[in-house]
Amino acid sequence: MKHSPNSPILLTSSLHVDEARKAISEMVEELIQEAKVIGDPNDIEVVSLDQAIDRILAEDLLSPIDVPAADNSAMDGFAFDGACLDTSKPEIILRIVGTAYAGKPFEGKIQQGECLKIMTGALMPVGCDTVIPQEFTNAKEDLQIAFQQNQLKRGENRRLRGEDLQQGKPAIATGRLLRPSDLGLAASLGIASLKVKRRLKVAILSSGDELRSLGQALDTGSIYDSNRYSLTGLLNRLNLEIIDCGIVRDEPASLKEAFCAAAKRADVLISSGGVSVGEADFTKQIMQELGDVGFWKIAMRPGRPMAFGILKPVAGKNPARKTLFFGLPGNPVAVMVTFYQFVRAALLQLNGANQTEPPLMQAISEAPIRKKPGRTEFQRAILGRDSNGKPTVKLTGSQGAGILRSMSEANCFVILGHEQGNIAAGDWVDVALFDGLL
Ligand code: AMP
Ligand code: MG
Repeated sequence: MKHSPNSPILLTSSLHVDEARKAISEMVEELIQEAKVIGDPNDIEVVSLDQAIDRILAEDLLSPIDVPAADNSAMDGFAFDGACLDTSKPEIILRIVGTAYAGKPFEGKIQQGECLKIMTGALMPVGCDTVIPQEFTNAKEDLQIAFQQNQLKRGENRRLRGEDLQQGKPAIATGRLLRPSDLGLAASLGIASLKVKRRLKVAILSSGDELRSLGQALDTGSIYDSNRYSLTGLLNRLNLEIIDCGIVRDEPASLKEAFCAAAKRADVLISSGGVSVGEADFTKQIMQELGDVGFWKIAMRPGRPMAFGILKPVAGKNPARKTLFFGLPGNPVAVMVTFYQFVRAALLQLNGANQTEPPLMQAISEAPIRKKPGRTEFQRAILGRDSNGKPTVKLTGSQGAGILRSMSEANCFVILGHEQGNIAAGDWVDVALFDGLL
């Protein structure tokens, strides 16, 4: 392993967010190479298009046909032989000899001086290569139209056979996280089902003596376990199979048992809590027995402590299958930020996605933001627009790592890079939106 998570460098100094991401990505790549998590052909399923949304395509989808299958009109208008545009006459007059509809082609041939009324999507008739849109023409008597010679060029407003996709060429590449448009595209090729990667099995658990499940009474000092619910929501967005392992007490035997049980069933285990300085020693001891896990101090806010590594295959499980482990910090906002920053991309990568990073945009900060260089910060904010239509962001109140309301009210993160210092009102900052459109 190139980047052992237990490397002493990673333990003593704060780790740059980018270094942590790189180490995670390398470990995931190694697991994929070893085909020990989800890389082998047994991990491919065939699903119908209506079940394929948010799944990851397991092999290139080759187009069985040319799209479009034949030349057709891109506009409602009149089709004709564009050779007649090669003239010094300013006006062209053509006689309408018929009509072609989408799905109802015109069978005859169009001669010089003639044209065909044609609808969008209708096949181009023999002898025609150009379409003049309806709105550029004047109707004349005796079924004739007139238009200006300089209004278009030969070949315009015609879609060529195969211009969208050619038969035998990839229409969608392996690793695509399938979106609505991909399902439409597959359907347009007459393909009813797709080969996709099976859904990753992801186990989640919360650790902490103070945690109570919903429905239990809160005694002094106890709190409700919220992390499993935000994690479930985050994982559902990725269409994964979730194994809920509940709440585990801060007690070595219980933790060990829970980790082993999760490792037996899951490709990935995500725990929250129990990795902060006060508690890590205790968890570390268990991890030494169960796998190769590093305890990181990451130069970020929120979300400084995090454990990451692999759990060895446990008895009763296919010995070739290791479990990827993320020990996220317990603070409710830190859980979501570390998931967004580290776990999401790793899950997508592990499942073979070729695009793992959500898009970033930029917006103008409405107010100053205090920021120390030397760590990456994820502030919660609301994206809006100023009076000139430019994107703006405004932080959502108090930004403490435990204040989940700051997340709930926000619609984006403002991401302030490692080297970045204070932000002045009016500065442009990087923004990651919580929800994508498609
Ligand atoms: P820890 O990382 O275990 O030190 O926890 C940090 C903070 O997060 C403490 O205030 C915990 O009570 C809180 N916390 C830990 N786990 C959860 C959870 N599952 N739900 C809500 N808060 C939690
Ligand atoms: Mg704790």
